[in-house]
Amino acid sequence: MPEMPEVETVRKGLVQLVKNKTIHSIEIRYPNIIEGNTELFLEILSGAKLINIRRRAKFLIFDFDNEYSMISHLRMEGKYQVRDNVENFDKHVHVIFHFTDKTMLGYRDVRKFGRMKLVKTSELNKDKSLQKLGPEPLSDDFVFDNIYPRITKHKKNIKTVLLDQTVISGLGNIYVDEVLWMSKIHPETSAVMLTNSEIKKIINSSNKEIKTAIEAGGTTIRSYVDSRGKSGQFQLQLNVYGRQGEPCERCGVKIEKIKVGGRGTHFCPNCQKLVK
Ligand SMILES: [Zn+2]
Repeated sequence: MPEMPEVETVRKGLVQLVKNKTIHSIEIRYPNIIEGNTELFLEILSGAKLINIRRRAKFLIFDFDNEYSMISHLRMEGKYQVRDNVENFDKHVHVIFHFTDKTMLGYRDVRKFGRMKLVKTSELNKDKSLQKLGPEPLSDDFVFDNIYPRITKHKKNIKTVLLDQTVISGLGNIYVDEVLWMSKIHPETSAVMLTNSEIKKIINSSNKEIKTAIEAGGTTIRSYVDSRGKSGQFQLQLNVYGRQGEPCERCGVKIEKIKVGGRGTHFCPNCQKLVK
């Protein structure tokens, strides 16, 4: 599943490749990708100019010049591809935006889990999927006074709490493992037990991790490739994720893999001791 840094890389690629283009027509080959009325989707977007592409957590937001925005979530393995010949899209491309300059943007999704939805730009903040998202790393509201109460009101383990996008958004399974290793916190620690200093470490580590990952273009897990066909270069820098059995970079003790809240979880049993 693309994580937030990958989605940011996709966004940057799309800004370079399709910003300021005008939609001539749209081809919908698999209507279930579109949430809501497909006819309306076609009608409102035909002739619209794409003026910006933003991101909130893992949602891409395409802003058009007609006061509408398209919210797009790639889910498991959705991708955008830019081509100048429709024959260069394979059978897994389900939505094609044809621009007036004859180039086209295709949405490819083998598993068909991704979704697109059209909303009024002025009503984006009322959209349920965006509204419930917690603050994300590197944003203005990702600060101690805001994050401390959000995390410590939970009795669940910190791994599960950090994965909950309504508490904080943008950290997926890979980054939560990395952040907890950097912060020297055992993934099964109850969130309510965390100290001020531990929450500060989580905040700083999250910012650092996401910043590094964005600069590197995201991780390369599964079939993720950005819109220009370039793979992320970040996977070599992971400290615990996928490194079970290998020595910890900090202390040399073997990284372990366990299940926490149903998710595969990597940690160093020496650096990240469980405090009860
Ligand atoms: Zn260690």
